[in-house]
Amino acid sequence: MRVRSHSFSEFYKVRVRHVHLDIRPQFDRHELDCIAVLDIQRENSWPDAPVVLDTERLDVREVSASSDGSNFAPVSYELGQQDQVLGQPLVIKAPPPTIKLKIVYSTSPDASALQWLEPNQTASRTLPFLYTQSQAIHARSWIPIQDIPAVRLTFSAVVHAPPRMMALMSAGNNEQLTHDSPYHFRMEKPVPPYLIALAIGRLDFASTGYRTGVYAEPSLIHRAAYEFGDTEKMIETAERLFGLYRWGRYDLLVLPPSFPCGGMENPCLTFLTPTVITGDRSLVALIAHELAHSWSGNLVTNKNWDDFWLNEGFTTYIEHRIQEEIYGKDRVEVEQVLSRLSLDEEMSKLENRDQLLDTDLTDRDPDEAMTLVPYVKGALFLQTLEQTFGRARFDRFLRDYFDHFAFQSVTTAQAKQYIRDKLLNSATGRAAPVPVDEWLSEPGLPPSAPVVEARVLTSIQEAALRCAAGMPLPRQEAAGWDSHQWLYFLNELPADLTAAKMSQLDAEFGLSQSTNSEILARWLLMSVRNGYHAADPRIEEFLTSVGRLKYIKPIYEALVATPDGRTVAADIYDKTKSFYHPIARTAVEQVFSQALTTRDPERAVAHSLEHSAS
Ligand SMILES: [Zn+2]
Repeated sequence: MRVRSHSFSEFYKVRVRHVHLDIRPQFDRHELDCIAVLDIQRENSWPDAPVVLDTERLDVREVSASSDGSNFAPVSYELGQQDQVLGQPLVIKAPPPTIKLKIVYSTSPDASALQWLEPNQTASRTLPFLYTQSQAIHARSWIPIQDIPAVRLTFSAVVHAPPRMMALMSAGNNEQLTHDSPYHFRMEKPVPPYLIALAIGRLDFASTGYRTGVYAEPSLIHRAAYEFGDTEKMIETAERLFGLYRWGRYDLLVLPPSFPCGGMENPCLTFLTPTVITGDRSLVALIAHELAHSWSGNLVTNKNWDDFWLNEGFTTYIEHRIQEEIYGKDRVEVEQVLSRLSLDEEMSKLENRDQLLDTDLTDRDPDEAMTLVPYVKGALFLQTLEQTFGRARFDRFLRDYFDHFAFQSVTTAQAKQYIRDKLLNSATGRAAPVPVDEWLSEPGLPPSAPVVEARVLTSIQEAALRCAAGMPLPRQEAAGWDSHQWLYFLNELPADLTAAKMSQLDAEFGLSQSTNSEILARWLLMSVRNGYHAADPRIEEFLTSVGRLKYIKPIYEALVATPDGRTVAADIYDKTKSFYHPIARTAVEQVFSQALTTRDPERAVAHSLEHSAS
C-alpha cells in the first residue's frame, strides 16, 4: 500500500518512543552489525495491532520481545513486499504486554544512508571513513524504525569503533578527545528519525567557543577552526532573536569531499562539506543555515515531507537574519539577490506541482522533489509577513511559534492556522492583505512578492555589461569582490561567451584555478556550456574530487547536452562513481537517463539535494 507519509508504520496504533543501538561497523564488508532495542507504546484502541517498522535492505536475523524490559523471547515477524521508494515493512507480532523489541540485523553494503570511504578517499589517506545521511527517508537503511518525521523519539547508542578511529553521533559528543572505543551516546530530546546520524573516522577536534567546536580530519582541523570561528557569535545572535538554543553543545563535523550536501543539520553536530572552507569565511552562510535548523527543523519539524518548506523556508529566513546581524545588510542582500536569480531559473523549468510550498509527494521519492522552492519561496513568504506586520512583531511571532510547537512535528495546515490566529486575524492584523493561500498553494510567486535589490551589485552589473561589450575588466575593479560578488558578475555575463572571451577572463583572473568552490563550480559550468576546452582538465579534476550535488549535477547536465560531452561525462562518472555518495550516484544516473529519454536535458527538472539556499 502506498501511503502519503512515506512510511509503512501505523504509528498511531503503536509508537516507538526510544531506540537503543549497539553498532559494530565492518569496514571490510561495508556493513553495520547491529542490535536495536525499541521501546514501544501502544494506543489502547489498537490492542492487537502489530508493530510495523520501515526497513530498506536490512538483513534481519532475529526479533524478540520483552514484557519486563530485560527478558526477551523470540516472536514471529515478516518482511513485506519491497517497494522501490519506501523499502520493506517489517511487521512484528508482539501483542501486549510487550514493552520492548530487540532486533538483530545487518545493513546492506548498498544501504542508501551509509557511505563507506576507502582510505584514499579521505584527506588523511590512512584510515577508512563512514558517515550517514538519513534525510529524507534513508534512516530505514541502517535502523529498523518508524521512519517518518511525525514520530519523534529519543535514542542512545554504543558504537564499537576500530582502533585509532573516533565515533561521533548527533547527540552530545565529548569534547575531550578520546580514542577509547566503545563510544556511548545519548540524545535525551525527542527527534525525528532522519536526524539520527553517525560518523566514524580519523578525526581531530578544535574548540571555537565554550559550547562550540569543530571535528575534522587532522590535515584540515586548523583551517576549519579558523573558517568557523564565528559559530559561537552566531548562536548568541540567534538566541537573542528567536529564543534559547536548547540542544547543549553545537559542534561541526567537516566530512570528506564526497559528502553530497552542503550541510546536514544533525542535532548537536552539523555535518558539513569541506567545500565551504575558503580561508576568508565568505561561505559561512551555510553555518548560519544549519544552526538555524536548531529552531526550525529540529525543534519544530515538518510532519511529512510534503511540509518540507516549514523546515527550509523558516531556516532560510532565519539564516538571513543571523547573517544580517553579524555581517551586515549589504552581504545578505547580495545573497538574497543570488538566491532569487537561482529560484527564478529553477522555477522556470519546474512543473506547476513542484512550485508549491504545500506539496503532495504521494508516490514520489522526497529526494526527487527537493528544489529551491521550499527554501527561497518559503523565506520570501516569511519576509512578506515580516514586512506586513513589522520586524518586532514578526520576531515575537516566531519566538512564540517555536515555544508553542517545541519538540513537535507540524503540518502546513497547523502552521497556516497559527499564522492566521496570531498575525492575520489578530486585532491589529485584520486589515493586512497577505495572500496566504496563493503563497502556499499556487505555483510561481504572488505579484506582491518582495523584490530584493542590492546596491553594491549595481557597479558589478555595469562591469559585466562592459565586459560583454568587449571591454576588459580592470584588475583593480574586481580586486575587492567577495565570493558572492564574483558569482553575481559571472551570472550577469551573457549565456554565450566566445572561447576567446573565456580565455581572456581566465588569463586575467585565474578562474579555472580558483580555490573557492562556489566560483570554480560556476566557472566550470560556464566552460562546459561555452565549449571552453582549456578548462577540461580542471572539470575532470573537480568532478572526480568533489561529490557535492549542488556543484556536480549542473555540470553533468551541461556535459550530457552534447554527444561529445556525454562521452566525457560517462568516462568521468565510470571512474568516479565509487567515490560519490549513493544519493549522488542516483541523482547523476538520473541525469544520464533523462538525457537518453528526453534528448533535451536542459529541460530536465533541475533539482539538487542541497541544504543551503545560498
Ligand atoms: Zn536546510
